[in-house]
Parts: sequence; structure tokens; C-alpha cells
Amino acid sequence: MKLFGLIGEKLGHSLSPDIHNKIFKDNNIDGLYNLFSVKSVFKNKIVESLKTLGVQGCNVTIPYKEVVMQQLDFISDEAKSIGAVNTIFIKDGKAYGYNTDYYGFGKMLERAKVKVEGKSFFVLGAGGAARSVLKYLEDNNAKTIVLVSRDKSKAAKKFKGFNINFMNYNELDEIKEEFALINATPCGMHPNINSAAVSEKIIKRFKVAIDIVYNPLETKFLKVAKSNGLKTVDGLFMLVGQGVKAEEIWNNIIVDSTTQEEIYESLKKKFSS
Ligand code: NAP
Repeated sequence: MKLFGLIGEKLGHSLSPDIHNKIFKDNNIDGLYNLFSVKSVFKNKIVESLKTLGVQGCNVTIPYKEVVMQQLDFISDEAKSIGAVNTIFIKDGKAYGYNTDYYGFGKMLERAKVKVEGKSFFVLGAGGAARSVLKYLEDNNAKTIVLVSRDKSKAAKKFKGFNINFMNYNELDEIKEEFALINATPCGMHPNINSAAVSEKIIKRFKVAIDIVYNPLETKFLKVAKSNGLKTVDGLFMLVGQGVKAEEIWNNIIVDSTTQEEIYESLKKKFSS
């Protein structure tokens, strides 16, 4: 039996076992996916422990996505640029780190048929999740990428390796017609379901609204966007996609679209509002 799991601090409501167990089943993989809740005092021994115990692959979540990086033998280019690893693969005694949120975001856009090349993207919120989003947009030749933050100069310092522009919310008020607006803030997430980072006045200047929040599936941001005729994309397939990419790395498989859609549908039932 192959051992896999999720490393983090508080893992109570993780959906990762649902995603990985379904992929194991559909691909005849004899795998076990554990939740490993790790106390902060052990954070510098995470990779050593995986190697010791013979764990083949792990996802990593808050607050250990950065601290594991210095313990790895190899870090992929996207994870280096993002500055966070959320997937570890142990092979022949060496530990390899990746950022599959980056791929999950890409799979979500592909599924929704949202083209990146040559288009303008405005991303709300200068947090950890925005890093994977911005890197994917950069790598896929978006024409313009603007990171919108409540504190523009702080955001510019935090994201100085990125080839992007910065705005605060007052400046966002001045824009005219643009392509896509992406919510990468926690606004609208359960239980604060009546909040949104931007008003209808702003949302209606875009053609596409993407929310990486998935609980609820249709956030207030997406509801307002839909009622103004925008194409809307919810964040659940990004979650599915990051798990799928991790499995593809760990088990050298291609997860077919039927399995991916079945995972999405079964998780969707948990979050429909
Ligand atoms: P975070 O660090 O808590 O917040 C991201 C940024 O949002 C903050 O740095 C802040 O940026 C802005 N923000 C926070 N509170 C705000 C408020 N009340 N009003 C306006 N802006 C606010 O979160 P994160 O880890 O980056 O994740 C963001 C969201 O993405 C979460 O809801 C998370 O669940 C979701 N997510 C989804 C997936 C997926 O697979 N679909 C993956 C990762 C994360 P400024 O200070 O610069 O304004």
C-alpha cells in the first residue's frame, strides 16, 4: 500500500481525502490518504519524517507551505516563483516540491474555457492564494495583470518578483471595460456570505468574474456578476485541480475528465447555497 497525506496544523474539515480516495478507486491505486496534523514545534522535521515513514506523497497546507521549502532536495520553478510548496513527492530518497494550486487554477480556467493570452486580468487581494494565480497568468501571457490591494505599496513590496501592476480600490473605481476580475480575498466566504470585495458598479465593467472561494459555491460576488450578464467561474474546480495534479505527480497517471467531473459534482453538493 502506498502512503499519502495532508500536512498542516488544523485539518478538521479537509476535503482532500474525498478527492484522493476517489482517484485511488478509479485508477486501481492501493493508496491510503491520511491527515497529519503537525504541531509547530516539529515543523522543521516534516520532510525528514515523510522519508523516515516511507510516505510517497503529501499535500501541505497552512502554516507549513513555506517552511517545508528549505527541507526539500528539489523545488519546481513555479513553486520557487510563488514562494510556497503545497505538494511533496518522495522518490528514491529525495524530496521534490511543487505548487499544484498553480495547476489547479489553470485547470479551472481551461474547464471554463477562459483564455488568458492577450487578455486583461484584475486580481483582488494580495495574499498567499494570489501568488499562484498571478504566476499562472504571467506564465500564460496575459496582456495586463493588475493586483488590487487595500495597501498598494505593501503589496508591491510583497510581490516584487512579479511582472504586474498594482492598484488600490480607489484606482479600480477609475477603470473602464476590462476582461476578467478575480476574487482572491476571503470576502464572501462562509459565514460572511453577504460580503464582496467590490461593488456592482465595478463588477459590471468586466466580461468574466472568477472567484477562487468555493464555500459557498456561488458567492455574492458571482451572484452579482451573473445578474449583470458576466460569465462566472466558481473556485471549486481549482481545489479539484490541485488534487488531480498532485496525483498525476505522485502516481504518474493522467486523471480522466470523468473522474474529475465526478469529484467536482460530489463536492459541489456540500457547498451549494
Ligand atoms: P488571506 O491571506 O486570508 O487573504 C488574501 C488577501 O485578501 C489579503 O492578503 C488581503 O489583501 C485581502 N483581504 C483580506 N480580508 C479582506 C477584506 N475584508 N476586504 C478586502 N480584502 C481583504 O487568504 P488566502 O490564503 O490568500 O486565500 C484567499 C481565499 O482563497 C480564501 O477564501 C481561500 O479559501 C481561497 N482559496 C481557494 C483555493 C481553491 O482551491 N479554490 C485555494 C487557495 C485559497 P490586501 O490586504 O492586499 O487587500
